[in-house]
Amino acid sequence: MNNTTQDLSEFGYIELMEASKLLKAYADSHNIGELKGLTLNFNSSSGFVFLSDEDLRVYMLNNDKIEEWFNCSYCGFEGFKDDFKDHKPKNAECNEFVKDCFEFENAINEQNDNYNISISEVLK
Ligand SMILES: [Zn+2]
Repeated sequence: MNNTTQDLSEFGYIELMEASKLLKAYADSHNIGELKGLTLNFNSSSGFVFLSDEDLRVYMLNNDKIEEWFNCSYCGFEGFKDDFKDHKPKNAECNEFVKDCFEFENAINEQNDNYNISISEVLK
């Protein structure tokens, strides 16, 4: 069952406040335009307000910073990168999933670092 909507009329007051914090964090993240097909979503089952990109990666607020939210499709464990320290892989696929996720995330961070460097050089 999919209880996710992008219809802002279905967001309550709390969700709209969460959405505004999320959009501010996104605007401040220096990643504007890097995540393609980005949408603002609300899941009424989990209560989560999140951004989702064209690859269905999920981004949420973690202490006022925007971070990718991971979901291990093998064992159902979910959380931010830090939370995955507590993820106990149940099998090889589980382990592989986590490895893939975090290697990819490192690749993204490297790109962002380069991006930030090029922007700060432009501003000099
Ligand atoms: Zn797992």
